[in-house]
Amino acid sequence: MNVTHLECALCGTAYEARRLHNLCTECGRPLLVRYDLDTAARTLTRESLKGRRADLWRYAEVLPVEREENIVSLGEGWTPLLRAERLGARLGLPNLYVKDESQNPTQSFKARGMTAAVSMAKELGVKKLAVPSAGNAAGALAAYAARAGLEAHIFMPKDTPRANVVECEQTGAHVTLMEGLITDCGAEVGRRKEAEGWFDVSTLKEPYRVEGKKTLGYELAEQFEWELPDVCVYPTGGGTGLVGMWKAFAEMEALGWIGSKRPRMVSVQSEGCAPIVRAFEEGKRFADEFENAATVASGLRVPKAVGDFLILDALRASNGAAVAVSDEELLAAVGEIGAAEGLFVAPEGAACLPALRKLIERGEVKRDERVVLFNTGAGVKYLESFGGGSG
Ligand SMILES: *Cc1c(COP(=O)(O)O)cnc(C)c1O
Ligand SMILES: [Zn+2]
Repeated sequence: MNVTHLECALCGTAYEARRLHNLCTECGRPLLVRYDLDTAARTLTRESLKGRRADLWRYAEVLPVEREENIVSLGEGWTPLLRAERLGARLGLPNLYVKDESQNPTQSFKARGMTAAVSMAKELGVKKLAVPSAGNAAGALAAYAARAGLEAHIFMPKDTPRANVVECEQTGAHVTLMEGLITDCGAEVGRRKEAEGWFDVSTLKEPYRVEGKKTLGYELAEQFEWELPDVCVYPTGGGTGLVGMWKAFAEMEALGWIGSKRPRMVSVQSEGCAPIVRAFEEGKRFADEFENAATVASGLRVPKAVGDFLILDALRASNGAAVAVSDEELLAAVGEIGAAEGLFVAPEGAACLPALRKLIERGEVKRDERVVLFNTGAGVKYLESFGGGSG
Protein backbone atom coordinates (compact mmCIF):
# COMPACT_ATOMS: atom_id res chain seq x y z
CA MET A 1 0.00 0.00 0.00
CA ASN A 2 0.97 3.66 -0.24
CA VAL A 3 3.28 3.12 -3.22
CA THR A 4 3.94 6.38 -5.05
CA HIS A 5 6.27 5.15 -7.79
CA LEU A 6 9.29 3.03 -8.61
CA GLU A 7 12.71 4.57 -8.89
CA CYS A 8 15.99 3.41 -10.44
CA ALA A 9 18.50 2.88 -7.64
CA LEU A 10 21.35 4.12 -9.83
CA CYS A 11 20.13 6.83 -12.20
CA GLY A 12 16.95 7.90 -10.38
CA THR A 13 14.57 7.50 -13.35
CA ALA A 14 10.99 7.24 -12.09
CA TYR A 15 8.55 4.56 -13.21
CA GLU A 16 4.82 4.24 -12.80
CA ALA A 17 3.64 1.92 -10.05
CA ARG A 18 1.07 -0.82 -10.72
CA ARG A 19 2.66 -1.88 -14.00
CA LEU A 20 5.09 -4.70 -14.69
CA HIS A 21 8.73 -3.67 -14.61
CA ASN A 22 12.03 -5.45 -14.55
CA LEU A 23 15.28 -3.44 -14.65
CA CYS A 24 15.64 0.26 -15.43
CA THR A 25 15.29 0.69 -19.18
CA GLU A 26 17.78 3.59 -19.10
CA CYS A 27 20.72 1.98 -17.29
CA GLY A 28 19.88 -1.70 -16.66
CA ARG A 29 19.98 -1.45 -12.88
CA PRO A 30 17.40 -2.34 -10.16
CA LEU A 31 14.22 -0.38 -9.47
CA LEU A 32 13.20 0.27 -5.88
CA VAL A 33 9.67 0.90 -4.60
CA ARG A 34 8.97 4.31 -3.04
CA TYR A 35 6.14 4.95 -0.58
CA ASP A 36 4.23 7.88 0.79
CA LEU A 37 5.56 7.30 4.30
CA ASP A 38 3.61 10.18 5.83
CA THR A 39 0.38 8.46 4.86
CA ALA A 40 1.75 5.08 5.95
CA ALA A 41 2.62 6.54 9.37
CA ARG A 42 -1.03 7.44 10.06
CA THR A 43 -2.00 3.80 10.62
CA LEU A 44 1.37 2.08 10.90
CA THR A 45 2.72 2.99 14.31
CA ARG A 46 5.01 1.06 16.60
CA GLU A 47 2.07 0.63 18.98
CA SER A 48 -0.27 -0.60 16.25
CA LEU A 49 2.00 -3.54 15.50
CA LYS A 50 1.25 -5.28 18.80
CA GLY A 51 -1.97 -6.95 17.74
CA ARG A 52 -1.07 -7.68 14.14
CA ARG A 53 -0.65 -10.94 12.23
CA ALA A 54 2.52 -12.88 13.12
CA ASP A 55 4.02 -12.83 9.66
CA LEU A 56 5.74 -10.20 7.54
CA TRP A 57 2.44 -8.82 6.23
CA ARG A 58 2.11 -7.10 9.62
CA TYR A 59 3.95 -4.25 7.85
CA ALA A 60 1.33 -3.97 5.07
CA GLU A 61 1.46 -0.17 4.82
CA VAL A 62 5.07 -0.36 3.63
CA LEU A 63 4.60 -3.36 1.36
CA PRO A 64 3.51 -3.07 -2.26
CA VAL A 65 0.30 -5.14 -2.40
CA GLU A 66 -2.80 -2.98 -2.78
CA ARG A 67 -5.59 -5.45 -2.06
CA GLU A 68 -5.35 -7.88 0.80
CA GLU A 69 -6.95 -10.72 -1.17
CA ASN A 70 -3.93 -10.74 -3.46
CA ILE A 71 -1.55 -11.66 -0.66
CA VAL A 72 -0.14 -15.14 -1.27
CA SER A 73 1.02 -16.35 2.13
CA LEU A 74 2.36 -19.49 3.74
CA GLY A 75 3.08 -17.84 7.09
CA GLU A 76 6.48 -16.29 6.23
CA GLY A 77 8.55 -13.94 8.35
CA TRP A 78 8.31 -12.94 12.03
CA THR A 79 11.01 -15.52 12.66
CA PRO A 80 12.72 -15.83 16.04
CA LEU A 81 15.62 -13.63 17.06
CA LEU A 82 17.47 -16.08 19.29
CA ARG A 83 20.02 -15.11 21.87
CA ALA A 84 23.08 -17.33 21.33
CA GLU A 85 24.61 -17.48 24.79
CA ARG A 86 26.67 -20.62 24.41
CA LEU A 87 28.06 -19.67 21.02
CA GLY A 88 28.61 -16.13 22.29
CA ALA A 89 30.61 -17.44 25.24
CA ARG A 90 32.94 -19.26 22.82
CA LEU A 91 33.59 -15.97 21.05
CA GLY A 92 33.69 -13.76 24.12
CA LEU A 93 30.55 -11.94 22.94
CA PRO A 94 27.80 -11.84 25.58
CA ASN A 95 25.37 -10.15 23.20
CA LEU A 96 25.31 -12.49 20.23
CA TYR A 97 22.04 -13.28 18.42
CA VAL A 98 20.90 -15.46 15.55
CA LYS A 99 17.99 -14.40 13.36
CA ASP A 100 16.75 -17.84 12.44
CA GLU A 101 15.38 -17.70 8.93
CA SER A 102 15.34 -21.48 8.53
CA GLN A 103 11.90 -21.35 10.17
CA ASN A 104 10.34 -19.74 7.11
CA PRO A 105 8.12 -21.71 4.68
CA THR A 106 10.42 -23.73 2.35
CA GLN A 107 13.10 -23.40 5.06
CA SER A 108 14.88 -20.29 3.86
CA PHE A 109 14.51 -16.54 3.82
CA LYS A 110 13.79 -16.70 0.09
CA ALA A 111 10.17 -17.07 1.22
CA ARG A 112 10.18 -13.39 2.24
CA GLY A 113 11.05 -12.26 -1.25
CA MET A 114 8.79 -14.68 -3.05
CA THR A 115 5.66 -13.97 -1.01
CA ALA A 116 5.97 -10.35 -2.16
CA ALA A 117 6.95 -11.07 -5.77
CA VAL A 118 4.23 -13.67 -6.31
CA SER A 119 1.56 -11.55 -4.60
CA MET A 120 2.42 -8.63 -6.87
CA ALA A 121 2.49 -10.87 -9.93
CA LYS A 122 -1.00 -12.04 -9.00
CA GLU A 123 -2.18 -8.49 -8.42
CA LEU A 124 -0.80 -7.34 -11.78
CA GLY A 125 -2.31 -10.26 -13.68
CA VAL A 126 0.78 -12.36 -14.45
CA LYS A 127 0.14 -16.06 -15.13
CA LYS A 128 3.61 -17.54 -15.68
CA LEU A 129 6.71 -16.88 -13.62
CA ALA A 130 10.32 -17.81 -14.35
CA VAL A 131 13.44 -17.72 -12.22
CA PRO A 132 17.09 -18.70 -12.35
CA SER A 133 18.14 -19.97 -8.95
CA ALA A 134 21.10 -21.30 -7.02
CA GLY A 135 18.61 -23.37 -5.02
CA ASN A 136 16.40 -21.87 -2.33
CA ALA A 137 14.80 -19.19 -4.49
CA ALA A 138 13.56 -22.00 -6.72
CA GLY A 139 11.91 -23.85 -3.87
CA ALA A 140 10.28 -20.68 -2.62
CA LEU A 141 8.99 -19.61 -6.03
CA ALA A 142 7.63 -23.10 -6.70
CA ALA A 143 5.73 -23.06 -3.40
CA TYR A 144 4.25 -19.56 -3.71
CA ALA A 145 3.36 -20.02 -7.38
CA ALA A 146 1.52 -23.23 -6.50
CA ARG A 147 -0.26 -21.46 -3.67
CA ALA A 148 -1.37 -18.74 -6.11
CA GLY A 149 -2.31 -21.14 -8.91
CA LEU A 150 0.38 -19.73 -11.22
CA GLU A 151 2.94 -21.51 -13.38
CA ALA A 152 6.57 -21.61 -12.19
CA HIS A 153 9.45 -22.21 -14.63
CA ILE A 154 12.68 -22.83 -12.82
CA PHE A 155 16.28 -22.98 -14.07
CA MET A 156 19.00 -24.27 -11.77
CA PRO A 157 22.60 -25.45 -12.14
CA LYS A 158 22.84 -29.24 -12.41
CA ASP A 159 24.76 -29.50 -9.16
CA THR A 160 22.19 -27.60 -7.06
CA PRO A 161 21.44 -29.43 -3.77
CA ARG A 162 19.02 -32.26 -4.50
CA ALA A 163 16.50 -31.08 -1.91
CA ASN A 164 15.94 -27.90 -3.94
CA VAL A 165 15.24 -29.87 -7.12
CA VAL A 166 12.90 -32.33 -5.41
CA GLU A 167 10.92 -29.65 -3.56
CA CYS A 168 10.26 -27.85 -6.85
CA GLU A 169 9.09 -31.03 -8.54
CA GLN A 170 6.83 -31.90 -5.64
CA THR A 171 5.22 -28.46 -5.65
CA GLY A 172 4.39 -28.69 -9.32
CA ALA A 173 7.02 -26.45 -10.94
CA HIS A 174 8.58 -26.93 -14.38
CA VAL A 175 12.24 -27.60 -13.60
CA THR A 176 15.20 -27.37 -16.00
CA LEU A 177 18.70 -28.29 -14.79
CA MET A 178 21.56 -26.62 -16.68
CA GLU A 179 25.32 -26.83 -17.08
CA GLY A 180 27.00 -23.80 -15.53
CA LEU A 181 26.04 -21.28 -12.88
CA ILE A 182 23.06 -19.13 -11.89
CA THR A 183 24.26 -16.50 -14.37
CA ASP A 184 23.92 -19.05 -17.20
CA CYS A 185 20.43 -19.93 -15.94
CA GLY A 186 19.57 -16.23 -15.89
CA ALA A 187 20.71 -15.84 -19.49
CA GLU A 188 18.46 -18.75 -20.52
CA VAL A 189 15.43 -17.15 -18.83
CA GLY A 190 16.34 -13.90 -20.58
CA ARG A 191 16.48 -15.57 -23.99
CA ARG A 192 13.18 -17.42 -23.65
CA LYS A 193 10.90 -15.23 -21.54
CA GLU A 194 9.39 -13.15 -24.29
CA ALA A 195 8.40 -16.06 -26.51
CA GLU A 196 7.11 -18.07 -23.55
CA GLY A 197 5.23 -15.23 -21.88
CA TRP A 198 7.14 -15.56 -18.60
CA PHE A 199 7.61 -12.79 -16.07
CA ASP A 200 11.20 -12.88 -14.81
CA VAL A 201 11.41 -12.80 -11.01
CA SER A 202 15.23 -12.90 -10.79
CA THR A 203 16.40 -11.20 -7.63
CA LEU A 204 16.59 -7.41 -7.97
CA LYS A 205 15.54 -7.75 -11.62
CA GLU A 206 11.97 -7.32 -10.44
CA PRO A 207 11.20 -4.72 -7.77
CA TYR A 208 9.29 -6.71 -5.14
CA ARG A 209 11.49 -9.50 -3.79
CA VAL A 210 13.60 -6.87 -2.07
CA GLU A 211 10.41 -5.42 -0.54
CA GLY A 212 9.65 -8.78 1.04
CA LYS A 213 13.20 -9.19 2.25
CA LYS A 214 13.38 -5.71 3.73
CA THR A 215 10.98 -6.88 6.44
CA LEU A 216 14.05 -8.50 8.02
CA GLY A 217 15.08 -4.96 8.93
CA TYR A 218 11.64 -4.06 10.33
CA GLU A 219 11.57 -7.24 12.39
CA LEU A 220 15.05 -6.66 13.73
CA ALA A 221 14.07 -3.20 14.96
CA GLU A 222 10.81 -4.42 16.44
CA GLN A 223 12.37 -7.47 18.13
CA PHE A 224 15.18 -5.32 19.59
CA GLU A 225 12.56 -2.82 20.80
CA TRP A 226 13.63 -0.12 18.35
CA GLU A 227 17.35 -0.18 19.25
CA LEU A 228 19.10 -1.65 16.21
CA PRO A 229 22.10 -3.93 16.88
CA ASP A 230 25.69 -2.79 16.38
CA VAL A 231 26.64 -5.32 13.73
CA CYS A 232 24.71 -7.40 11.15
CA VAL A 233 26.67 -10.31 9.68
CA TYR A 234 24.98 -11.39 6.46
CA PRO A 235 25.86 -14.16 3.98
CA THR A 236 25.73 -12.41 0.64
CA GLY A 237 24.82 -13.79 -2.76
CA GLY A 238 22.72 -11.35 -4.76
CA GLY A 239 22.56 -9.17 -1.64
CA THR A 240 18.78 -8.73 -1.61
CA GLY A 241 18.45 -9.16 2.14
CA LEU A 242 21.20 -6.70 2.95
CA VAL A 243 19.96 -4.14 0.45
CA GLY A 244 16.44 -4.65 1.77
CA MET A 245 17.43 -4.13 5.40
CA TRP A 246 19.35 -0.99 4.49
CA LYS A 247 16.24 0.34 2.75
CA ALA A 248 14.07 -0.60 5.74
CA PHE A 249 16.32 1.35 8.11
CA ALA A 250 15.90 4.50 5.99
CA GLU A 251 12.12 4.00 5.84
CA MET A 252 11.90 3.49 9.59
CA GLU A 253 13.86 6.67 10.18
CA ALA A 254 11.40 8.52 7.91
CA LEU A 255 8.54 6.98 9.88
CA GLY A 256 10.12 8.41 13.03
CA TRP A 257 10.73 4.97 14.53
CA ILE A 258 14.52 4.99 14.78
CA GLY A 259 17.30 7.57 14.66
CA SER A 260 20.14 7.90 12.18
CA LYS A 261 22.40 5.31 13.81
CA ARG A 262 22.87 2.19 11.70
CA PRO A 263 24.34 -1.23 12.35
CA ARG A 264 27.67 -1.91 10.66
CA MET A 265 26.73 -4.18 7.76
CA VAL A 266 29.05 -7.09 7.02
CA SER A 267 28.89 -9.14 3.81
CA VAL A 268 30.17 -12.69 4.11
CA GLN A 269 31.09 -14.70 1.03
CA SER A 270 32.95 -17.91 0.28
CA GLU A 271 36.54 -17.66 -0.95
CA GLY A 272 35.36 -19.66 -3.96
CA CYS A 273 32.94 -16.89 -4.98
CA ALA A 274 33.71 -13.52 -3.44
CA PRO A 275 33.03 -10.76 -5.97
CA ILE A 276 31.71 -8.34 -3.34
CA VAL A 277 34.64 -8.92 -0.97
CA ARG A 278 37.09 -8.33 -3.83
CA ALA A 279 35.35 -5.13 -4.96
CA PHE A 280 35.16 -3.89 -1.36
CA GLU A 281 38.89 -4.43 -0.87
CA GLU A 282 39.72 -2.80 -4.20
CA GLY A 283 37.60 0.24 -3.40
CA LYS A 284 35.29 -0.34 -6.39
CA ARG A 285 31.60 0.55 -6.51
CA PHE A 286 30.78 -2.15 -9.07
CA ALA A 287 32.02 -5.73 -8.79
CA ASP A 288 33.66 -7.65 -11.63
CA GLU A 289 32.30 -11.09 -12.43
CA PHE A 290 34.01 -13.76 -10.30
CA GLU A 291 35.52 -16.39 -12.62
CA ASN A 292 35.10 -20.13 -11.93
CA ALA A 293 32.82 -19.57 -8.96
CA ALA A 294 32.59 -22.64 -6.73
CA THR A 295 31.29 -23.18 -3.17
CA VAL A 296 29.12 -25.70 -1.31
CA ALA A 297 27.20 -22.71 0.04
CA SER A 298 25.07 -22.64 -3.11
CA GLY A 299 23.19 -19.49 -2.12
CA LEU A 300 26.50 -17.62 -2.18
CA ARG A 301 27.41 -18.86 -5.64
CA VAL A 302 26.47 -15.65 -7.41
CA PRO A 303 29.45 -14.52 -9.53
CA LYS A 304 27.79 -11.29 -10.66
CA ALA A 305 25.06 -9.35 -8.84
CA VAL A 306 23.01 -6.65 -10.55
CA GLY A 307 22.66 -4.87 -7.20
CA ASP A 308 26.42 -4.92 -6.44
CA PHE A 309 26.66 -1.15 -5.98
CA LEU A 310 23.75 -1.17 -3.52
CA ILE A 311 25.51 -3.77 -1.38
CA LEU A 312 28.86 -1.99 -1.56
CA ASP A 313 27.32 1.43 -0.85
CA ALA A 314 25.62 0.04 2.29
CA LEU A 315 28.80 -1.66 3.53
CA ARG A 316 30.75 1.57 3.16
CA ALA A 317 28.07 3.95 4.45
CA SER A 318 27.71 1.83 7.57
CA ASN A 319 31.47 1.55 8.14
CA GLY A 320 30.99 -2.19 7.69
CA ALA A 321 33.13 -4.89 6.14
CA ALA A 322 33.28 -7.71 3.60
CA VAL A 323 34.85 -10.99 4.62
CA ALA A 324 35.57 -14.21 2.71
CA VAL A 325 35.81 -17.59 4.44
CA SER A 326 36.78 -20.99 3.07
CA ASP A 327 34.31 -23.80 2.45
CA GLU A 328 36.21 -25.81 5.04
CA GLU A 329 35.66 -23.10 7.64
CA LEU A 330 31.97 -22.64 6.88
CA LEU A 331 31.23 -26.37 6.87
CA ALA A 332 33.00 -26.81 10.21
CA ALA A 333 30.91 -23.93 11.55
CA VAL A 334 27.67 -25.82 10.79
CA GLY A 335 28.61 -28.45 13.38
CA GLU A 336 29.90 -25.89 15.84
CA ILE A 337 26.69 -23.83 15.76
CA GLY A 338 24.61 -26.99 15.83
CA ALA A 339 26.32 -28.38 18.90
CA ALA A 340 26.33 -25.03 20.73
CA GLU A 341 22.80 -23.84 19.96
CA GLY A 342 20.76 -26.72 18.56
CA LEU A 343 20.34 -25.07 15.19
CA PHE A 344 21.15 -27.11 12.07
CA VAL A 345 21.99 -24.09 9.94
CA ALA A 346 22.58 -23.75 6.21
CA PRO A 347 26.25 -23.55 5.12
CA GLU A 348 25.55 -19.94 4.06
CA GLY A 349 24.36 -18.99 7.54
CA ALA A 350 27.24 -20.90 9.12
CA ALA A 351 29.71 -18.79 7.11
CA CYS A 352 28.87 -15.87 9.40
CA LEU A 353 30.67 -17.54 12.31
CA PRO A 354 34.23 -17.78 10.91
CA ALA A 355 33.72 -14.32 9.40
CA LEU A 356 32.82 -12.93 12.83
CA ARG A 357 35.90 -14.61 14.35
CA LYS A 358 38.07 -12.80 11.79
CA LEU A 359 36.46 -9.46 12.63
CA ILE A 360 37.02 -10.03 16.35
CA GLU A 361 40.69 -10.92 15.67
CA ARG A 362 41.09 -7.75 13.61
CA GLY A 363 39.62 -5.71 16.46
CA GLU A 364 36.62 -4.68 14.30
CA VAL A 365 34.01 -6.16 16.65
CA LYS A 366 34.19 -5.41 20.35
CA ARG A 367 33.14 -7.52 23.30
CA ASP A 368 30.22 -5.37 24.43
CA GLU A 369 28.63 -5.01 21.00
CA ARG A 370 25.32 -6.53 19.98
CA VAL A 371 25.91 -8.74 16.97
CA VAL A 372 23.35 -10.57 14.81
CA LEU A 373 24.20 -13.53 12.61
CA PHE A 374 21.68 -14.28 9.88
CA ASN A 375 20.97 -17.95 9.46
CA THR A 376 19.34 -17.71 6.07
CA GLY A 377 18.37 -21.34 5.58
CA ALA A 378 18.23 -24.92 6.88
CA GLY A 379 21.14 -27.35 6.92
CA VAL A 380 18.83 -30.25 6.19
CA LYS A 381 18.58 -29.13 2.56
CA TYR A 382 22.33 -29.72 2.03
CA LEU A 383 22.71 -33.31 3.20
CA GLU A 384 25.16 -34.18 0.42
CA SER A 385 27.60 -31.61 1.85
CA PHE A 386 28.01 -33.39 5.16
CA GLY A 387 29.71 -36.62 6.11
CA GLY A 388 28.19 -39.11 8.53
CA GLY A 389 24.64 -40.32 8.64
CA SER A 390 25.42 -43.97 9.38
CA GLY A 391 25.23 -43.58 13.15
C1 LIG B 1 19.92 -16.91 -1.48
C2 LIG B 1 20.59 -17.27 -0.23
C3 LIG B 1 21.55 -16.42 0.35
C4 LIG B 1 21.98 -15.13 -0.30
O1 LIG B 1 20.95 -14.20 -0.24
P1 LIG B 1 20.97 -12.83 -1.07
O2 LIG B 1 19.90 -12.03 -0.51
O3 LIG B 1 20.81 -13.22 -2.49
O4 LIG B 1 22.33 -12.24 -0.85
C5 LIG B 1 22.08 -16.76 1.57
N1 LIG B 1 21.72 -17.91 2.19
C6 LIG B 1 20.82 -18.77 1.67
C7 LIG B 1 20.49 -20.01 2.42
C8 LIG B 1 20.23 -18.46 0.45
O5 LIG B 1 19.32 -19.30 -0.07
ZN1 LIG C 1 18.53 3.65 -14.18
